Amino acid sequence: MTKPPVRIAVLHFAHETVTFLKNATTMDDFIYPGSPAKGEALLSSGPKSYMGGFVQVAREFDGIELVGIESPLWPRTGSGSGWVTEDAYETFVGGMIAEIRAKGPFDGIYLCLHGAMAVRGVPRPEAELARRVREAVGPRAVLAATFDPHGNEDEEFLRHADMAFTGKYFPHYDSHLQGQRAARCLIRAVRNDYRPTHATVKVPIISPTVVQWTGASPWMGLIQRALVWEAREPDAYVNVFFGFPWADVPDAGMTMQVITNGDPKLAEAIADDMSCFAWRRRAALLGSTTVHSISEGVTLAKHAVQSAGAPVILADHSDRSGYATWLLREIIAQGLSNILIATIADADAIRTLIEQGAQPGDAFDMAIGGRADASAGDPVRILGTVLTVVRIGSQTWISVRFGNGNVVVISPYLAQIMEPSTIREIGLNPAEFAVIAIKSRVHFRRGFDDSGFATTILQVEPTEPFLGTTRLDALRYENLDLRNYYPYGDPDFLQQHSG
Ligand SMILES: [Zn+2]
Repeated sequence: MTKPPVRIAVLHFAHETVTFLKNATTMDDFIYPGSPAKGEALLSSGPKSYMGGFVQVAREFDGIELVGIESPLWPRTGSGSGWVTEDAYETFVGGMIAEIRAKGPFDGIYLCLHGAMAVRGVPRPEAELARRVREAVGPRAVLAATFDPHGNEDEEFLRHADMAFTGKYFPHYDSHLQGQRAARCLIRAVRNDYRPTHATVKVPIISPTVVQWTGASPWMGLIQRALVWEAREPDAYVNVFFGFPWADVPDAGMTMQVITNGDPKLAEAIADDMSCFAWRRRAALLGSTTVHSISEGVTLAKHAVQSAGAPVILADHSDRSGYATWLLREIIAQGLSNILIATIADADAIRTLIEQGAQPGDAFDMAIGGRADASAGDPVRILGTVLTVVRIGSQTWISVRFGNGNVVVISPYLAQIMEPSTIREIGLNPAEFAVIAIKSRVHFRRGFDDSGFATTILQVEPTEPFLGTTRLDALRYENLDLRNYYPYGDPDFLQQHSG
């Protein structure tokens, strides 16, 4: 007997919203060549990510029909923008639901999400999307989702959806793998071979992303414990949401989510174990990374270069707009040489330079960066020579040589340089620089730390508690109370969890 064909609708809606940024994420930001995407174009977006993993494994099964529902891809601002407007959310979600109703019935729905989207007027946007999808497809369809570990989620999502699969590593190495698991379990559930049960435990820990590197313990230990559970218990999936504290939403902070095959008690036991483990290690989790002031960091970088500590990665983790000039200014003030600063975001400067037809060799005299908001500081005047003009994805980036062997790269939006290969794409040789100054929290460790590239790594942030600060209590939260989270309050967690 042949199995009946399985119809699966595929949706994508993802953002990591920094609600403390003033620039809202609007409809326009989601609309650009390639986005929204539908059909095969949607299914082939993100081939190395969650979507690619999902599609690959779904197509290993016979009799599967994937229907790519028109979905916005990531906004062009990346994560450098604030509240998603209700208009953008309602328009895209409304369109998806209408299309699901028109093209249904479906046996399964795959929701390719991030989890840290924040929408004005919609407290839990991913759970609300799942609720509306459930309403449209009925109780029997299976809803499976993938999330980024920075998602802010609580029990609400799995009240409407059946399963979730979250990337474990930061840097996010396993997105494709989690997409694969989502496809396999979704199809098994449609065929009654997997009966998803779950447990969700909110752990009252809120941490800045700069401390969340899973390349070393205690974060590595936390992830290892999840992997051990998955190894011990067939068909158990353990999601560790680190949380994203720059989205001021009621479900921010750490969450453990466990999916099992027809065994809710096992799901609860694992979620309990994981959350108690994290809670007991909370001081170590928060204290895993030292963050220096900008001036201290630049001085330390200088000393490192003098004492065989190069190459140095100097990372301003706190710049959320990409426009911040603090590090650039300090590098000039302390007279460092052979430094690469990548990047300073400045959309206006890029536009002007394109209009002027900037070419390598042109003299350069322009004040760049700053201005976006207080956290970006003032523009810095650079006198130098245009070195390269390159296309990176759909953007134009321009590098300028100045001072004593220094190069600054200007990009239109916030760019987290994660790999030396990106520096080569800009037309530069990463080996030529003693210090590479970047804007990144943890993602850069992929190519510069986990790879063994850098001898010295220094994380910095400005002395003032700007919006990207590790001092979360300097931010004005309206939708959560920091006193309910470690390290800002003293929640009585173990009291409620046997562990
Ligand atoms: Zn992330």
